[in-house]
Amino acid sequence: MDNSHCCAHDSEGDQTSIAASVAKPGQFTCPMHPEVVAEIAGDCPACGMALDPVSVDKVALQDDTELRHMRRLFWISLPFTVSVFILAMGDSIPGLNFRSSLGGQMFGWLQALLTTPVLFWCGGLFLLRGWRSIVGRAPNMWTLISIGTLAAYGFSLAILLFPDSFPTDVLNSAHGAPLYFEAAAVIISLVLLGQVLELRARGQTSLALLELLDLAPPIAILIDDDGSEREVALADVVVGQQLRVKPGGKIPVDGEVVQGSATIDESMLTGEPLAVERSPGDAVSSGTLIQSGSIVIRAVRVGEQTLLSRIIDLVAQAQRSRAPIQRLADIVAGWFVPIVVAAALAAYFIWMAVGPQPEMIYALVASVSVLIIACPCALGLATPMSVIVGIGRGARDGVLIRDAEVLETFQSVDVLVCDKTGTLTEGLGSLTAIETFGAIKEDELLRLAATVERASEHPLADAIVQAAIKRSLELAAVTDFLSIAGQGIQAKVEDQTIVIGNAALLGEHEIDVEIENARADHHRGSGATVVWVGIDGQLVGLLVVADLIKNSTPAALAALRKSGLRILMATGDNRKTAEAIGQELKIDEIHAELSPIAKHDLVKSLQDKGLVVALAGDGINDAPALAQADIGIAMGTGTDIAMETASVTLVKGDLRGIVKARNLSVKTMQNIRQNLFFAFFYNALGVPIAAGALYPLFGFLLSPMLAAAAMSLSSVSVIGNALRLRRIDI
Ligand code: ADP
Ligand code: MG
Repeated sequence: MDNSHCCAHDSEGDQTSIAASVAKPGQFTCPMHPEVVAEIAGDCPACGMALDPVSVDKVALQDDTELRHMRRLFWISLPFTVSVFILAMGDSIPGLNFRSSLGGQMFGWLQALLTTPVLFWCGGLFLLRGWRSIVGRAPNMWTLISIGTLAAYGFSLAILLFPDSFPTDVLNSAHGAPLYFEAAAVIISLVLLGQVLELRARGQTSLALLELLDLAPPIAILIDDDGSEREVALADVVVGQQLRVKPGGKIPVDGEVVQGSATIDESMLTGEPLAVERSPGDAVSSGTLIQSGSIVIRAVRVGEQTLLSRIIDLVAQAQRSRAPIQRLADIVAGWFVPIVVAAALAAYFIWMAVGPQPEMIYALVASVSVLIIACPCALGLATPMSVIVGIGRGARDGVLIRDAEVLETFQSVDVLVCDKTGTLTEGLGSLTAIETFGAIKEDELLRLAATVERASEHPLADAIVQAAIKRSLELAAVTDFLSIAGQGIQAKVEDQTIVIGNAALLGEHEIDVEIENARADHHRGSGATVVWVGIDGQLVGLLVVADLIKNSTPAALAALRKSGLRILMATGDNRKTAEAIGQELKIDEIHAELSPIAKHDLVKSLQDKGLVVALAGDGINDAPALAQADIGIAMGTGTDIAMETASVTLVKGDLRGIVKARNLSVKTMQNIRQNLFFAFFYNALGVPIAAGALYPLFGFLLSPMLAAAAMSLSSVSVIGNALRLRRIDI
């Protein structure tokens, strides 16, 4: 990271520091300089802007003290500025010549009197920031504004106080001694207005987060042990308590339905517009809304542990992260202010040397305009504003992006590697067949298998356990349980060693499955998964679990293919099964029977070919590959989401989320490039025009007041453009 423009903060004492990590809640940071971390509120030592509180707290996010302060100063400045402006402009309007009606001296001093409070009271904050930037040797926009306004004010005051020390052509130009008090006043008022607009627009960028924060209801209806119901504050709910949620009510905490059933709108978390049916045993998430029906839930996760809270934390943190593309802006910003000051000086001396008479007036106007029109903050805001809005936009559709770097990388992904079970498929299979070899009965086989699977978190396990429950089989106790990711499980039940899994795992127990492979292949042809069951070194049977392809998968893959992505399947399952699913989905490259390490190696080998690889997995056995991939996409399944480690989390484990993430990445990067282009272009064009580049051709010299208006609008337009991302289709 380039810190060149914000390193010299020693003068700020211990309260502000440059941290490698991002600021934590309760601290303060600058959206343009997230490396700045402060314990107390104040101004950013790098750019002088007011620091934002780091918070996922509604009150802090809605805190508009700074905005109200700027707005008050603006309104105070306005009558003074308008008066001094009319006074000064009267100079050039026939019949309104205040200079002659008031007399030269009175005319001048009245303007000085009106401008002084604007500059030092309303603009005092800017001058202070400017002063700090010089002392701290971190020049920023406030340096420029301070020098510019003080130059205009100081020059005018000097003419009033010491007219004799100025050349006569200056004193007797067009309408008598030239004064630039009104320029100083107008600049301050316009910068204040710009700050008001900018702060207002910046407030809009946190709307996505505020919407999320508004989801959790402030109170819950607690059902006491005696069955009576009372309202309690959300913060007082503890795990295990039973809560009633009525039609139209929001689910207060993550929980499990224990009674009743309801249609629940989960779109605020998942982006999925279709409401879902929830009945006893189902999980429900904090913040989701009951459309119809009434349920009693048991609190499973409360407070910061809820999915909603974790999403909020993740979004807030991602919004503060820094995109690599910003490095370019940082480098420019580091040199920006010194270059602008140099340009202003150059303009001054060139006008003095070759300008028309009175040279000093032209030189002053041009150099003040240069200082005022330059806008380093447009450069600084270009990237972070788009990142904040873009990340928020994704969250609204259940696409959680870990940081700005991921947002930037996603657009250049070449290959998408998909895990099969739980990613392409529902991962909620059902047991469709049992075959036994030898004397063992079907029910006994299922009872033993389910007993062991009960300890496993694999989607296959659930299907097997459910089947056993359906047949009312009594499950036994297990010891020595061992789960081998991507292969299966083993344990001891009633003194027998049970092994359940793929051929590789059974092979390790010296059980050969080859003789029964034909029977297994028969099931695999339809895309079902076959797991072998061995007891005490003997192959005793197989279980067939059919897993449906997610409804959304074909369309999502088609869209991704169309956008130029190569799509691969990487599964730990058998080749036959993988091919059946792969053919149905028209996936052209299938890698089957991979261990978790082999999945990792596959990703690595693609990367070695220079490809940018995204891997979508359900996280259970895909951890090494997810970590290796340039973009690791975790599929949210229900409420248990490993989103803290993934680059992208799709709250609803739906591959359409990948299409959305890619669109979001493309559009956000486009937006950032527009902003950067605008900011560069604006400054590259504005500074020479202000310096008087058009004068030799068109006789046009920009007034410092117009320069101030242009400067104030430039950063507002950057934020305005970023805010467009709120409404894009992804
Ligand atoms: P995928 O890569 O498609 O997500 P996994 O790597 O999770 O599949 O699993 C690979 C294979 O390992 C499964 O097809 C199955 O044969 C076996 N396996 C994994 N976990 C279990 C389990 N809990 N019970 C039985 N078999 C399992
Ligand atoms: Mg899987």
